Amino acid sequence: MRTLALRGFSLMSVLRMATYADLANRPVLTQPVYEAGRPIEVVAREFGLEPSAVIKLASNENPLGPSPLGLAAAKKALDNCHLYPDGGCTFLREKLAKKWALEPGNFVIGNGSNEVMILLAQAFLRPGDEVVFGSQAFIVYKLATMLFGATPVEVPMPGYRHDLKAMRAAVTAKTRIVFLASPNNPTGGTDDPADILAFAASLPEDVIFCLDEAYTEYLEASADLRPLMKSGRKVVLSRTFSKAYGLAGLRVGYLLGSTEVCGLLNRVRQPFNVNLPALAAAEAALDDDAFVRRTREVNAAGIAQLSAGLKQLGFAFIDGKANFLAAQIPKAEEAFTSLQKAGVIVRPLRGYGMTGWLRLTVGTEAQNARLLAELAKL
Ligand SMILES: *Cc1c(COP(=O)(O)O)cnc(C)c1O
Repeated sequence: MRTLALRGFSLMSVLRMATYADLANRPVLTQPVYEAGRPIEVVAREFGLEPSAVIKLASNENPLGPSPLGLAAAKKALDNCHLYPDGGCTFLREKLAKKWALEPGNFVIGNGSNEVMILLAQAFLRPGDEVVFGSQAFIVYKLATMLFGATPVEVPMPGYRHDLKAMRAAVTAKTRIVFLASPNNPTGGTDDPADILAFAASLPEDVIFCLDEAYTEYLEASADLRPLMKSGRKVVLSRTFSKAYGLAGLRVGYLLGSTEVCGLLNRVRQPFNVNLPALAAAEAALDDDAFVRRTREVNAAGIAQLSAGLKQLGFAFIDGKANFLAAQIPKAEEAFTSLQKAGVIVRPLRGYGMTGWLRLTVGTEAQNARLLAELAKL
């Protein structure tokens, strides 16, 4: 009872039994909920469809499936799944070090790149700290911020594009982390690598800049943060095996940063946060250049196909280079349901304050054609 009174509850609340909510950390109650893309089996059951007749263009997954090299390695690794995975992720970090011309100590491997962003928040955020990101930025930044009692500072995105000047102006003495994704999800807009570098360099030295490069494999060029990092600036970047490598279901991503920040994050993470087949798959997929190349080609063709189709239908969309497009669809909520009835799952963006918008993941040519045909029927 004393505890409850100390937590500021009314007299009424101490006259009844405490609920779990009474006892929970405050941020747990106020956190926004992550709305994931609806799974194929769930939609199939709800609408009485065969799962094989349903296509999911809702979570920016790779329509070509997993990297074949990654899949083969994961299957082989399963034979040893009675053993704990290598908690140090030794071989993956060595391989990444080679790829980036850095040291293994410059990498933290996560259960998806989501995890490395949560680790960053866990290691560095306290109540009262501020975290700066765009108003239509990836929702995980807000989740990570609020989970540790810090304050999200959401900078308006005119035309759904990052306003780097306004973001810089939003940085105060309380700012601890700035998150930026390029391309950004869910809008799909991309920031120029030179602008990103200038922005990163303009930040105070005690602010951590996290560049989220989940879709960078789809771009012609990305910002190279290594020189800034080597000069001692607090810049980190996150990458994932979920998109271009097609390993979303295995959950592997990584953070690249100074050996100091990586050392701290490695203390925070669980000892075996990345599972055995996932580690094996990521290691092998890193060599699957042919698959990534084909992914890029199919995606570029798909973006062209979807863009042309949306234009023809008269639906506005945000020009993007990632593996999805955000499109303004009349009666988007109803459209989301009618599309599911027709076996096509997309993602409504109401949760991002983009009522009237749907996010469409680029599929194979046939899947894109089916999506466009269903959109035409609305
Ligand atoms: C998909 C995505 C990720 C990747 O998340 P994982 O946890 O690695 O699957 C990260 N950032 C953005 C912006 C994304 O859209």
